[in-house]
Parts: sequence; structure tokens; C-alpha cells
Amino acid sequence: MDHNTSAADGPELAEPYLREVLAGAGLAVEYVRAEGNTLYQRADDGSEIAVVDFAGGYGSVLLGHHHPEIVARAQELLAEGTPVHAQFSRHPYANRLAAELNRIIHRELDTTEPYFAIFGNSGAEAVEAAVKHAELDRGMRIRALLDECAEAGRSTRAAVASGAAIVAEPVLTLFGLTAAEGDPAAALSLLEAELDRRNAEQTARPPLFLALEGGFHGKLAASVQLTHNEGYRAPFKSLAAQARFVPHNQPDALKEIHAEERGDLLELGVADGHVVVRERGFPVFCAFLVEPLQGEGGIRVLSEEFAREIQEFCAAIGCPVVIDEIQSGMGRTGTFLASSALGLRGDYYTLAKTLGGGIAKTSVMLVREAYYRKEFEIVHSSTFAKDSFSCHIALKVLELLEADGGLAYRRAAERGAALRTMLGRVQADFPMVIEEVRGRGLMLGVEFRDQSDSPSPAIQGAARGGMFGYVLAGHLLRGHRVRTFPTASALNTLRFEPSIGLTDAEIAQLEAALRDVCTLLRDGKGDVLLAV
Ligand code: PMP
Repeated sequence: MDHNTSAADGPELAEPYLREVLAGAGLAVEYVRAEGNTLYQRADDGSEIAVVDFAGGYGSVLLGHHHPEIVARAQELLAEGTPVHAQFSRHPYANRLAAELNRIIHRELDTTEPYFAIFGNSGAEAVEAAVKHAELDRGMRIRALLDECAEAGRSTRAAVASGAAIVAEPVLTLFGLTAAEGDPAAALSLLEAELDRRNAEQTARPPLFLALEGGFHGKLAASVQLTHNEGYRAPFKSLAAQARFVPHNQPDALKEIHAEERGDLLELGVADGHVVVRERGFPVFCAFLVEPLQGEGGIRVLSEEFAREIQEFCAAIGCPVVIDEIQSGMGRTGTFLASSALGLRGDYYTLAKTLGGGIAKTSVMLVREAYYRKEFEIVHSSTFAKDSFSCHIALKVLELLEADGGLAYRRAAERGAALRTMLGRVQADFPMVIEEVRGRGLMLGVEFRDQSDSPSPAIQGAARGGMFGYVLAGHLLRGHRVRTFPTASALNTLRFEPSIGLTDAEIAQLEAALRDVCTLLRDGKGDVLLAV
């Protein structure tokens, strides 16, 4: 996802800057085979070097690399000549997949309201689909509101014309208007023109998104504007609608943003024989994007209390909640949706990564029936989305997750607890090195303390240069055959997102590796840590 771009035309052209960074940290290695929790490099003598994979395709291989049943299904599909591309025909497999996703989500959320599925090819694409759908819906709501305002204007005009209502001075003064006495039609026209002007100002405003500080929702044109990291976002600011970023656990900040940004459409009406102006809330907020467990922001769990406050705030202002479960979903945290454990209910959900079983590139955006606009199916599409291969693979993934009464979810919780216990043990022994261990299930993070003041100039340099997490990852790989990476927007936090096949031996290997890194940091042994 985040650091994996590569050019096709030979080594000299392949992302020279990125390659420099990876090489500097000793991370520029090639993997030639993958199985379960292991990636293999090829040594010079042709033998394989096994590396335990805690990066897990940035959360894409919860069931392990090349799960035998997923591979068998893929081979079957190819052997049978199942059409991959049959756009604009019946897609029963996609319907089955949507139905199965609904069945699981309904069970977890204890609801029966259908969620419609729009398929995509990547996580960011699912987010963009949610953003576009929310904007389509918002536009349609605005048009309906304007129609109602126009209808109210017509009946007010009729009431004034028939003498059933008058335009009194106070309503004009309210808008800084004065009209000649004795000409109610002219006074009304003046008022109407002013309301039209003010309403046009409102409707010309671009949609506004709400998102959390630290959030990551992708790097495409619209989704990157919802990603908090300024480095990713700022260069592309002019390309798409903007978000206001909300600090965690500060419900007052929500209220402040609402007070600053809210707007009204003005509508004419009649009350007690007088023309009045009514305020109709204008839906400036297009959607609120939330990760229940922030991945790239440093593995941070949303608090249940703030989740409830967000939910209530959005319900009160009529803003849909988009829950981004691209990294946290699909069972990784012990439930299918990490948000269900927080009591959070989405109007939209986005899923990707593990949905493709580590083989297919696929994603889905789910939208609640109450918000769904069937027009979206025409205005949004992708050649590759909803292909039979990805859908069949995703169905197999769901089958594996649900098998044996949800054994995979229980295993994610149990293996996650075992891994977390170990990480906690290391933290307890190195409190001056490790700031915090965070996360849930098999989505865990270890935040290292800032080392800008390390006695070792090498460690100090790495910390000040912003590459600290990559240096740690490099040492873990070279010295211990353990693969992990920092999170994309919090480079002092290493992520641990292995598959449910994680063994106690792999946990022990990681423990030894982390203890070594912590010892080197504590003792200021930068030369050893950085030796490539
Ligand atoms: N949302 C979240 C929560 C993610 O973690 C990611 C990827 N790390 C994305 C969106 C973007 O997904 P992709 O890289 O597949 O575009």
C-alpha cells in the first residue's frame, strides 16, 4: 500500500528515492516465495532465507500468504475458464458476496437493514466510492430541499396576492431591506431576491468532510484529502473537497466545528397572516470518516465514548458516518468489524485488504438502504471492479472466516492476546525505550520513545531524520529475520499484523528480536543497530 510503488523498466528506474531509503535501512530485499506467516528470500547459494512476516501485506493476509484453500479456489477458477470479465451481465457471485457480507454484518450489528455493495479494486477506491456516493446523496437532498423552498415561495406569493398575508416591516428589516409602503407584491419580490441570493451562497459552498486527526483513508485525489498526514495531503489540496480534522476525545471540538461551518437555506412561509422566513438546515457536511482502530496513524483504538459521541453528533446533524474498516475489518481484531466492538454503527463501510485473501485486489463500499441512491450504479463504475475472480476469492475468504462457528475470529483474538502479552512484557522491561503498546487482536503497534537525544549520534540522526522506525525495521530484518514496518503517519510506531496462523515460536522469535533492539537503544549502540 504505502511504500510499494515500483517502476517496471529495470532497476535504475524503479523509484530511485524510495529505493535509497529502503537500501539505507537495509530493507531493499526481494522476496521470492510466501507461505503462511513466512516470506522467503533467496541467498547467493540458492537456498531460501525465511523471514517471519509481521507486516502481513499491511493487513492483507489475515489468513496467511497463499492459504491452501484460497490458492486451490484460484486454480479451480482458472482451470474452469471462469470468465473474469463479463461486464454488464448478471453477476450472481457478486450478489452472493454482497448477501454474505450482509448476513455477517447483520449478525454483528443486530440489524436487518440491507447494505448495498459497490465493489472496487483497492482500499482508496472504496473510500472514493463512499465519498462520491455521499456527495450524490447530498446533492439530491439539497435539490429536494430547494424544491420545497420553491414550493413554499409559491404558496407564500399566492397568500400575499390574495391578501391572506402581509409583508410586515420587521421581516424586511431582519434582512436589511426597506420597501415602499402599500405594494406588498414588490416587498415580497425584494425579500425573495434576498433569500435567493443568500441561498445561492449556501449552495455554492463545496462539501465539507469530517475526519479524525491521525486518520488514513487512502492516497487517491479525494481520499488523500481525508488522510490527516499533511505531507501526503497538502500538495494535492486543490484537487478535491476538504476535511476538517477532529481531535480525539474532544466532543466540544465537534460542536465548535459545527457552529463554524453550519448553514441554513431560507424559506418563505406564512404565520398568523404574516410572511415569515424559516431556516432549513443546509447539509454542508458530506460525511464523517472514521477508522475504529487507526492503522497508519499509529495503531490507535477509538474510545467507545468518543465513538458514541461521534455517532450522536452525526445523527443530530444528519451527516452519514463512513466507517473505514479497510485495515481493521475482516476479523483482524476478533470481530468481523472492529467498530462493532465499540458499539459504532456505520451508514457506510469500506473493506479491502484481507477481502482479497492475499491474492485478489478487491474492495467494497457498503451503504445502508436508508442512504442508498440507485442512480450511483450508473455514474460510478470501474472496468476491473466486481470481476468474478475477486468475488469468488472473497467468498472463499468469508467461508474460511465463518467456518467452525467463527474459529478464525476467536483465533485472531487469542493469537492477538498472546502477541500483546509478549509485547507488554518487553515494554515492562524497557520502559525507557518503549512508550506504549496499543491495538486489538492482530492489529498491534509498539510506539518507541523519541530518540532525538540519544547519546549515539547514529541513533540521534535517524530519529531526527524521521527515519527512525525504518532503521528499527531494518535491524529486525537483518539481524533477526523478522519483517515489520512503521505505520505510514506515525514513524515511531512499529506495526504487528500477522496472520491467525501465528505460532508461539514466531512470537518468541519476535520477542528476542525486540529485546535486542531495545537493548541497543537503551545502551546507545547506534553502530550495531545501523550496521547494514
Ligand atoms: N483506509 C485505511 C484504513 C487503510 O489502512 C488504507 C491502506 N493502508 C487505505 C484506506 C487505502 O487502501 P489502499 O492502499 O488499498 O488504497
